[in-house]
Amino acid sequence: MAALVVAEHDNASIKPATWNTVTAATQLGGEVHVLIAGSAAGPAAAEAALIQGVSKVLLADAPSLADGLAENVAAEVVLLAPAYSHILFPATAAGRNVAPRVAALLDVAQFSDIISVESPRVYTRPIYAGNAIATVEALDATVVITARATGFDAAGQSASPAPIESVTAAADSGRSSFVKREIAKSDRPELTAAKIIVSGGRGVGSGENYFKVLEPLADKLGAALGASRAAVDAGFVPNDFQVGQTGKIVAPELYIAVGISGAIQHLAGMKDSKVIVAINKDPEAPIFGVADYGLVGDLFELVPELVTQLG
Ligand SMILES: Cc1cc2nc3c(=O)[nH]c(=O)nc-3n(C[C@H](O)[C@H](O)[C@H](O)COP(=O)(O)OP(=O)(O)OC[C@H]3O[C@@H](n4cnc5c(N)ncnc54)[C@H](O)[C@@H]3O)c2cc1C
Repeated sequence: MAALVVAEHDNASIKPATWNTVTAATQLGGEVHVLIAGSAAGPAAAEAALIQGVSKVLLADAPSLADGLAENVAAEVVLLAPAYSHILFPATAAGRNVAPRVAALLDVAQFSDIISVESPRVYTRPIYAGNAIATVEALDATVVITARATGFDAAGQSASPAPIESVTAAADSGRSSFVKREIAKSDRPELTAAKIIVSGGRGVGSGENYFKVLEPLADKLGAALGASRAAVDAGFVPNDFQVGQTGKIVAPELYIAVGISGAIQHLAGMKDSKVIVAINKDPEAPIFGVADYGLVGDLFELVPELVTQLG
């Protein structure tokens, strides 16, 4: 029994959720290999070789794999699949794009968003926006999994690197081609990797207020900025700020929810945060039900006061 973790990377380095996915894979009990499907991806492979618990890195290097096109990466995984009992992806946008294709091509079920490994074939996963946890059992010979990063600690770094083996790259599927990538540049940490998140909801009133009130606090704390869906839908901030069931799933050390009521769909994305602070003028707001610390009052007074207190 061996597990293949399909790494998310940009050819130069590994994305953080891959480290958590390796932890999930090690809990399955067998050997863990990592696939780097990319182009000129040696640096990413070298980093993967240092993830604790990984016994081998497979490097499929070809121009057709440069940009992580789902069709080509899926074809690569399918080529390698016969050697593996489990194939794991991070439950990120990239992993979710490839995993179902692999499961469909192998004609097996997919186990999405698992948060624990109970045994090699039994896992748990949240359902109903995290209000219930299902225990599921895999019956297919090959198990395709997406692992939720917040369910597993990141694997540590190993002192000695695992071997890197070159594998044949699958032929270009010709079904899609890379056009361009527009990357939002920000000095802030990436939302899903941030240790501290300051998140704003409809209560902040406008995009202008959002940045005027929340940015100074985020700057003081070195935090990422997040938002509720209501704040995104109202156009205060771009869509990639959204935390929740249909946004990003986060579990930082500290999550500060400002002017957010705490609808279940929002909680589904942040309730695993270590410490939750809520600032809301309504003492009955459901967010206080999950908050470790609550400040009841007007955010336009409390947030600047907090920034002053932080020095
Ligand atoms: C299928 C589905 C998926 C969804 N997915 C998501 C998701 O991924 N993420 C998400 O966030 N939502 C999601 N939603 C929407 C969710 O149900 C809520 O509508 C949304 O989270 C509400 O956002 P909010 O808390 O910012 O707004 P509101 O519920 O309107 O809350 C605003 C809060 O601000 C407070 N407030 C107002 N003014 C002040 C002030 N001056 N000072 C202090 N507090 C103030 C109010 O007391 C209130 O509690 C989803 C809904 C559905 C149906």
